[in-house]
Amino acid sequence: MAIIARSMDLPAVTGITGIKHGDKLIINGKTGEIIIDPTEAEIEQYQALQEELRQRREALEKYRGTPGKTLDGRHIELFANIGLEMDIPKAAESDAEGVGLFRTEFLFMNRNSAPTEEEQFAVYKKAATAFGKRPVIIRTLDIGGDKEIPYMGLEKEENPFLGWRAIRYCLDNEDVFSVQLRAILRASAFGTVKIMLPMISDIRELRQAKALINKIKNELAEQGIAFDNNISIGIMIETPAAAVMAGAFAREADFFSIGTNDLTQYTMAVDRGNLKVAGLYSEYNPAVLRLINNIANEALKNNIPCGICGEAGADPLLTKFLIGSGISELSMTRSSILEVKSVISEMNYSEVKTKIADSIDRLADVEESIEFLKGL
Ligand code: PEP
Ligand code: MG
Repeated sequence: MAIIARSMDLPAVTGITGIKHGDKLIINGKTGEIIIDPTEAEIEQYQALQEELRQRREALEKYRGTPGKTLDGRHIELFANIGLEMDIPKAAESDAEGVGLFRTEFLFMNRNSAPTEEEQFAVYKKAATAFGKRPVIIRTLDIGGDKEIPYMGLEKEENPFLGWRAIRYCLDNEDVFSVQLRAILRASAFGTVKIMLPMISDIRELRQAKALINKIKNELAEQGIAFDNNISIGIMIETPAAAVMAGAFAREADFFSIGTNDLTQYTMAVDRGNLKVAGLYSEYNPAVLRLINNIANEALKNNIPCGICGEAGADPLLTKFLIGSGISELSMTRSSILEVKSVISEMNYSEVKTKIADSIDRLADVEESIEFLKGL
């Protein structure tokens, strides 16, 4: 719901009780506050805030069409996250230089059976064509965890986030996975498509997926069906195992994209949907920052691109840290791109890089991290 609301530019706040049908509300999506039956003064105050926001958006327009570049010339790709078919034209017309995360599970939702190869191909082709030379990173099916799809045969599990999810499900259901991979490969003939595998925790999963992709490529070639034979195959880094082993993964993956939503959840051992433990969930926790830094360093050493496609990518407080760590691409909801670009345009990559190297090991808690991030 949060992902869809964001893609529709709707402010959203969750986990609130005590609202009656018909109550007048002010929803502050930025702070997570709700005001029930606001006073005239509160309404005026929020209208003024809305106007301020509108002016800030207008001021950011000067960045539209300019490349994301630091003061010392490091180019950062700014990509859009998409999920629904209707996101494709909006993202293609936005300032995005590509798609950094196409969440394909939305194609499987709100229906009674899995989309066929033709149905999937049509959507992937639409994205590839709309973006042309700009890359479109299509993430293979990431179901399980909090993403239930009734007809996919997922049984109730004690710990769904630690269970049969994403790549694990796909490798065990080769028929479902192959249909999707064929559709993606066929779409790759129409633009710059890349394949991204979610929830990788063991390098054998990457190897197995690559072997299957090769098999499907051979079949397509035999059938005379066009596809991009050099298609990049990357992985999401969203488990601590993959984060720690980033060096080994970087030698076998074409690119990384860090899924900070799950990486935070798994690092902090906090269910990202459980309000009782939400206080522990923070991308600013030094444990998460150190892992991100390690992943980006390993990617740099091995000469592969490393992006961010979790919510952290759209957080201006984290932007300098991410870029200074070596992240070369940020993917986010399209409405955040200009703001993040403005932060990038005002920073010096080498300076921030040195500051991070000097301080990151000293951070002990979230408050210290926030101070450190502000000081970059
Ligand atoms: C993430 O985990 O950060 C991510 C981008 O994937 P999702 O939010 O779809 O799990
Ligand atoms: Mg994830």
